[in-house]
Amino acid sequence: MSATTATPAKRLDVDAIRAEFPILHQQVHGKPLVYLDNAATKQKPRSVIESQSHYYERDNANIHRGVHLLSCRATDAYEAARARVRKFLNAAEDAEILFTRGTTEGINRVARSYGELLSAGDEILISHMEHHSNIVPWQMLAKRKGTVLKVAPIDDAGQLDVAAFERLLSPKTKLVSIVHQSNSLGTINPIAELIAKAHAVGAVVLVDAAQSCSHLKVDVRALDADFVVLSSHKIYGPTGVGVLYGKRALLDRMPPDEGGGDMILSVTFEKTIYNKLPHKFEAGTPNIAGVIGLGAAIDWVESKGLDAIAAHEDDVLRYGTQKLTEIPGLRIIGTAAHKASVLSFTLGDIHPHDVGTVLDMEGVAIRTGHHCTQPVMDRFGVPATARASLAVYNTRADVDALCVALHKAIEVLG
Ligand code: PLP
Repeated sequence: MSATTATPAKRLDVDAIRAEFPILHQQVHGKPLVYLDNAATKQKPRSVIESQSHYYERDNANIHRGVHLLSCRATDAYEAARARVRKFLNAAEDAEILFTRGTTEGINRVARSYGELLSAGDEILISHMEHHSNIVPWQMLAKRKGTVLKVAPIDDAGQLDVAAFERLLSPKTKLVSIVHQSNSLGTINPIAELIAKAHAVGAVVLVDAAQSCSHLKVDVRALDADFVVLSSHKIYGPTGVGVLYGKRALLDRMPPDEGGGDMILSVTFEKTIYNKLPHKFEAGTPNIAGVIGLGAAIDWVESKGLDAIAAHEDDVLRYGTQKLTEIPGLRIIGTAAHKASVLSFTLGDIHPHDVGTVLDMEGVAIRTGHHCTQPVMDRFGVPATARASLAVYNTRADVDALCVALHKAIEVLG
């Protein structure tokens, strides 16, 4: 669970927070909804939903190119969201914040663009706990450029073997791409330490902050991260939007991976001059409403405070870990000393999909499957897990409802 901070985090009024999420107040299959699929996507507070309808009702216009008032307002709102993200990540300048479709596109962009600067034999180091989106782009790059993919192992608790990670680093390592918090295990990696070790051999580091960004401060300058990727929908914002942070010195050297409108200064049939950062990497009309929604989501998260969110989630996670341990036949997958918000488990010989189906009938929404981390499933010798994952609006009562539903699953399927 998250490291304790020097000053205790403020206590959140979780009932008031729940009231801000319209979707939570419904019945499914005649039972009150208990939403525990937050690692897949989080629900949206009213302020995020309204920021987008406000944009469509008052300001909708294409950005950057218009002289009319609506276009200017849309551009201002879009660029204001970029400034919010810059502040949230503590980046040095707005130009280092690139909007993407999500974490997946961010990693693919680095693989396509930074990958162009790499040569055959250059090594890329990832870990065994990566999401498929942080594995496949590097395999594609290996095919295209002859780079070599190395994988640092994890132990039986689902923790990175840091000594093995260090042994795999060498002057041949050009890029380390590593998850901050695992989506299927909950493990939080010692990211600052890993970045320092990678920098010691001259490698640049990409941090996958898809899961961590909603409860851990990701300060790109304090961490000295070279690239950071995240998805808006995992931080209470809309789907279809994400962020790729990159240090200017790197982004300036990298070629654009997509051509089109907005990413150019001038075009003739003979030659195109690319636009300056960040536009060089934002070809075409972006998801303007989504970016504005992401800005509203960051405002919302900051109004609660990441420390307070983490403290609340840690309390529910501790309670949930204890309660699940009491269920006969239940095995928790992912027992790292430092973990957050994820309870992955198997229940005897019952297939996780069957568990998930019974839980759904009880109103409890969890995710079952490999969670886009098949190598993690292989490592633990299971085809799939059931995963309950927490957000700030979850309570101990949600865990109790999960446990009641699990007993029902044992009764029906066991
Ligand atoms: N990385 C991690 C750790 C994730 O949990 C996810 C999504 O679950 C991704 C990457 C991919 O995110 P997205 O599908 O939003 O691009």
